[in-house]
Amino acid sequence: MNSVPDGRPGSSVVIVGTGVAGITGAETLRANGFDGSITVFGEEPHLPYRRTALSKGILDGDVSDAKITLRPPGYWDERGIRIVPSVRVTGVDAASRTVELADGSVVGYDALVLATGGTARHLPGAPSDLLSLRTRHDIDRARARIDSGPVVIVGGGLIGLEIAAAVASSEQRAGPTGQITVLEAAGSLLSRVVPDTVAEAVATLHRDRGVQIVTDARITAADAGEVTLSDGTRVTGTVIGAIGMQPDTALADAAGLRVSPAGIVVDEALRTSTPGIYAAGDVAARPHPLTGEPMRAEQWLTATEHGKLVAMTIAADLGLATGPSTPIPRVPLAWSMQYSSNIQMVGWPAMANRFDMDVDASTGSGTCADGFAATVRCFDDDRLVGAVCMGRGGAGRALRTEIEDTLEPVGAAG
Ligand SMILES: Cc1cc2nc3c(=O)[nH]c(=O)nc-3n(C[C@H](O)[C@H](O)[C@H](O)COP(=O)(O)OP(=O)(O)OC[C@H]3O[C@@H](n4cnc5c(N)ncnc54)[C@H](O)[C@@H]3O)c2cc1C
Repeated sequence: MNSVPDGRPGSSVVIVGTGVAGITGAETLRANGFDGSITVFGEEPHLPYRRTALSKGILDGDVSDAKITLRPPGYWDERGIRIVPSVRVTGVDAASRTVELADGSVVGYDALVLATGGTARHLPGAPSDLLSLRTRHDIDRARARIDSGPVVIVGGGLIGLEIAAAVASSEQRAGPTGQITVLEAAGSLLSRVVPDTVAEAVATLHRDRGVQIVTDARITAADAGEVTLSDGTRVTGTVIGAIGMQPDTALADAAGLRVSPAGIVVDEALRTSTPGIYAAGDVAARPHPLTGEPMRAEQWLTATEHGKLVAMTIAADLGLATGPSTPIPRVPLAWSMQYSSNIQMVGWPAMANRFDMDVDASTGSGTCADGFAATVRCFDDDRLVGAVCMGRGGAGRALRTEIEDTLEPVGAAG
């Protein structure tokens, strides 16, 4: 993969996507001494905001500008960073190093970052207006439709469970309320990311609040008010799809960049297959440190770190003199809040064939208010490949470092 050859002062960097990866890239570039122009285009009408707040506060949370906007007013102007909301970038011409905007205008770049994130995956066969949760627009739609009646959440992953917890805890739904049901296609909750013991503890957390958990749920039909299962059972209520996200690779596809099902294929330093174009955040598929396969992370911390990394890579490729680069971890770390339980997922627990559990089911220690605190270390034979911590807020980062320390240095394997 190639680099941008031109390091002249006044170079321009264009970033597509005002999510955390895009804006961290912009601010890190500036902080590292890049003195050219930085423009960040974002399709959403808002200034960059904390997307993670949406599921935790779907009904009662304060998701106003004042609460979830990521940087204070004036921050971007002070740094000479142009944030341009409500503008979709519609095309990339890699040969002329230009992007095209929805109004037909054309903007040149020396380096282009695609930080386009993704969209909520659509439940096959369901109407296109089925509720899902990825943007602030989605939360407005959800709030308008969820009342005190039953709610059916399709998907027992992180976001589906956070929605279930937030709806079940909602004070707006106080009094007699309808059943909340989570339908999960796999045999357990969070099946791709946590071992069975933790999945069972999470299920208990929800059942204790009256949430009905249905695993092995095969959906044959769904609309806005009802889901039908393969055994003929009909579950009625406001239906919310939470079956994951689809990386938004439209620009990369059209520009002929290498794209895999995981996302836009990038090297360790986040360079795409086309010179001058980089990808970062949820849309970027970086080599998995253990398998080398393109791997997408869908995690806030990783997207933030991608932003930092892409800025360092661009600065190096533009020939800017910067200080020693900070190592960027390759081990993912995601967290989730359900009721008052903090769950952290580190590395790749799904690769494990052996689990070492340190469970405290009686004392309610850590930040888990429900009496279950656990650290599960996940091994592939003897190698630590992942960990899940529940009710032990601080443990995730230390475990992440522990796994990181076992990885081959970048480039050493090949
Ligand atoms: C509801 C929810 C809860 C979450 N909770 C957690 C959590 O608890 N812990 C955790 O670790 N992670 C969580 N995540 C994941 C985390 O939010 C994401 O990993 C992170 O936001 C990804 O950032 P990003 O910048 O890569 O992409 P995004 O935040 O998706 O931003 C991409 C932006 O690009 C814009 N865009 C796309 N195409 C174009 C175009 N052509 N032109 C202009 N703009 C464009 C999009 O509109 C979007 O604004 C959650 C995600 C969601 C949806």
